[in-house]
Amino acid sequence: AGRCHGDGGGTSKTPEIRYTKLFINGRFVDAASGKTFETRDPRTGDVIARVAEGDKEDVDMAVKAAREAFDHGEWPRMSGSERGRVMAKYAEVVERHAEELAALESLDAGKPLAAAMAVDVGNSLDSLRYFAGAADKIHGETLKMSRQLQGYTLREPLGVAGLIVPWNFPAVMFFSKVSPALAAGCTVVVKPAEQTPLSALFLAHLAKQAGVPDGVINVITGFGPTAGAAIASHMDIDVVAFTGSTEVGRLIMEASAKSNLKPVALELGGKSPLIVFDDADLDKAVELAIGGNFFNKGEACVAGSRVFVQEGIYDRFEQKLADTMKNWVVGDPFDPSVNQGPQVDKAQYERVLSYIEQGKAEGATVLTGGKPCGNKGYYIEPTIFTNVKDDMAIAREEIFGPVMCLMKFKTVEEAIERANGTRYGLAAGVVTRDIDVANRMARSIRAGVVWVNCYFAMDSSCPFGGRKMSGFGKDDSMHALDKFLAVKAIVTPVHGSPW
Ligand code: ADP
Repeated sequence: AGRCHGDGGGTSKTPEIRYTKLFINGRFVDAASGKTFETRDPRTGDVIARVAEGDKEDVDMAVKAAREAFDHGEWPRMSGSERGRVMAKYAEVVERHAEELAALESLDAGKPLAAAMAVDVGNSLDSLRYFAGAADKIHGETLKMSRQLQGYTLREPLGVAGLIVPWNFPAVMFFSKVSPALAAGCTVVVKPAEQTPLSALFLAHLAKQAGVPDGVINVITGFGPTAGAAIASHMDIDVVAFTGSTEVGRLIMEASAKSNLKPVALELGGKSPLIVFDDADLDKAVELAIGGNFFNKGEACVAGSRVFVQEGIYDRFEQKLADTMKNWVVGDPFDPSVNQGPQVDKAQYERVLSYIEQGKAEGATVLTGGKPCGNKGYYIEPTIFTNVKDDMAIAREEIFGPVMCLMKFKTVEEAIERANGTRYGLAAGVVTRDIDVANRMARSIRAGVVWVNCYFAMDSSCPFGGRKMSGFGKDDSMHALDKFLAVKAIVTPVHGSPW
């Protein structure tokens, strides 16, 4: 499939790594244990930097700082508009460092630089600015109660938020949690993924530069079962917002249940359907299937990895898809002609390849790709399987790599049934020009978002988050604030009441 320059990476000019320590109470510090871990360049597997390896003791210190900033600091006591002003300033500072941030994301996560700038930096800024504007629009209700009472509600910040995020969009995920938490008036302890710790540390530095008070944002780099688990089970963290795998989501909930019953919000995996009807614009449908599967090398929870195509258009769709993929370029993400960079790390690379082998073994046909690309780094050819059955592992499990399953269907009813035939419910796409079909599909699919004639159409003002085993709680939009706020009712008798 297409051109493959898997060995081309590793020589381009890359950003200097300036921040590699934990960020606690406004200062960069070593881990209490003095330990560090390696973060690697996915183009080569070479070590980029050694980063402080935080663990329970460091989480404790970060929580103490966040607790102090929440209980006695100015952040939750400022007016919403003051918090909004600081956040807008933060956005300005991030924007001034857009190129460095994009380059860090490309280097650490293997993203084409232009996409890192447009999508990763772009969405990060949108999120900060949206929630900067939201900070002074948090209000309760007044209640005329049935007895001789009146009341009102306050929406108060919950306190210290633990934010555990994955490696596929490191900066976007950082802000998808941090922005609403800050707007709500919470203070935070963030744990970026061990595969991509660099941007979160850089963003912590920029927060300080922008005037976010010390202790409000703390960043603990480290591993999931140690630093992550210490956050999930911490007795003095008031809420955890998590994005990652369904398996770890379950552990987070368990840890909350076994510790202080902190509320959790979970944005988990998916196996989203993209459904193309006979009347679809063929070029658009092919383009959406490619973007929906190979954008960010398939490392996207919303990837439209089950592509259902109606029988009347199926053959033309398959042909066009195979032809279009001839122009797809895999290679060094710092090369502007490249569409797809390397998978994030060796473990993911091997996991994706083993799914590809499993697909072959289960009898699916390889239309394009099907193997690694080059001899160095973690590059994989964009892989399209045909003759896929719904019960094959490649059609059921989240692969999180550039692997598309192409399947044929006949009727609207069948499409609904098969689209919903998954334990996940994150996203879906429908491609049709028939408004009745579009409406019917949109209403029938059990998912957090249904994209009609588009895919990956995310926006800070649009709620994002799944149902079923894709989790619960929303990122983005005013709904995202809910998970960081507690509703308090205040009740008082009115004149003449028997109270
Ligand atoms: P992925 O499968 O996308 O790598 P994970 O769910 O493994 O996603 O990781 C997402 C985030 O959760 C990362 O920051 C990771 O370090 C963290 N994590 C992994 N295991 C645990 C755990 N047991 N407790 C808390 N956090 C964890």
